[in-house]
Amino acid sequence: MDFFHYENNELFCEEVLVSDIAEQVGTPFYLYSHRTIVEHYRKLDKALESIEHLICYSMKSNSNLAIARSLANEGSGADIVSGGELYRALKAGFPAEKIVFAGVGKTESEIEYALKMGILMFNVESMPEADLINYVAGKIGKKAKIALRVNPDVDAHTHKHITTGKKENKFGLAIDEALGYFTESASKENIEVIGVQAHIGSQIVSTMPYVEAINRLTTLINDLEKIGIKIQTLNIGGGLGIIYNEENPSTAQQFAEAILPLVGPTGRKLIIEPGRFIVGNAGILVTRTTYIKKSGSKTFIIVDAGMNDLIRPALYDSYHSIKPLKMTGAEDITADIVGPICESADCFAKERKIESVNAGDLLAIFSAGAYGFVMSSNYNSRPKVAEAMVIGDKYYTVRERETYDDLIKGESIPEILIHDK
Ligand code: PLP
Repeated sequence: MDFFHYENNELFCEEVLVSDIAEQVGTPFYLYSHRTIVEHYRKLDKALESIEHLICYSMKSNSNLAIARSLANEGSGADIVSGGELYRALKAGFPAEKIVFAGVGKTESEIEYALKMGILMFNVESMPEADLINYVAGKIGKKAKIALRVNPDVDAHTHKHITTGKKENKFGLAIDEALGYFTESASKENIEVIGVQAHIGSQIVSTMPYVEAINRLTTLINDLEKIGIKIQTLNIGGGLGIIYNEENPSTAQQFAEAILPLVGPTGRKLIIEPGRFIVGNAGILVTRTTYIKKSGSKTFIIVDAGMNDLIRPALYDSYHSIKPLKMTGAEDITADIVGPICESADCFAKERKIESVNAGDLLAIFSAGAYGFVMSSNYNSRPKVAEAMVIGDKYYTVRERETYDDLIKGESIPEILIHDK
């Protein structure tokens, strides 16, 4: 579900013609639909309404301030993984008491910053991390609330790079050793253990892995309660999948129907950390065709966006639907759609059937809202692209395109290297 649609063969985002935005903003640029973001959040929130819950939007999927604010306005919390994401989350307007802090490598300064800001809790991934949190909390006279992230050893049946809940993954603490870790953490003076957390992977299309994980976590929680450790929150991470091509992911309603009977009766607060589900289909990358290149039997559509702007196809072999902004009814061709970067991996689609386009034509790369801009880089000294958001019948630039000056910001040439000619 999203609010991108074709009308008279031209692509609109909500009520705005996308090609009009392209003329003003220039290409490439990311474009987000505010209504799509908010609708996704509301669907999930409504599906879970029968139990106490907190949706913590996963900032890593797209941390643009306008997107984050749109969700904060809806009452969402935030899931962060760094001091930088905490800074962004607070700037965007998420209340600190709705922020959960994950990640295997939190540093002392990040922990101190988060404690001082008064976040809801840390999702702790190791005993040395618990020690450090305990130490920092003691140093500044605070008690830190934590959940331990448990690795439930469940196969999420997703791409190997985005599977996180198998025992060979670096995340969380092995479930069969968890009792000991909880006991040790609970004994620390400046820590209060309040929750259990797990995140088993991303782009999960069925509810089964969640059910399996929750069942394992519930057994653990029951064992913890027997030894006097009371668990108030169950955080099952993010991971809800979306449609990129022909997937058939479970809906918010189906997800809720599968998990609520397991969590509801316990009376514990449910926390979930969706990212992709909320923003994935709410964003497109708009790019202009630079050349049509023919070589041997192949046709290449060379566009002005590159893998530095959207790395998912190169990194995960992921599929993104690609269509012209203006459908002309021209015959389909089969082409590779590639960027200008000096890497063979700089390819958005291989042997893709697409309506024939000419140099200068605009294309939309769909489902680019999550893990798109946030993973972009300046590789090949390419300025990061602009980001825009449509709200109803208006668009807003929510991040300016970088300039060449931005590319060298902070760099300097040591005096000793500067020779007079
Ligand atoms: N929570 C944690 C701990 C994660 O590592 C991630 C993604 O990697 C998420 C939430 C968000 O995942 P998704 O965007 O698939 O919902």
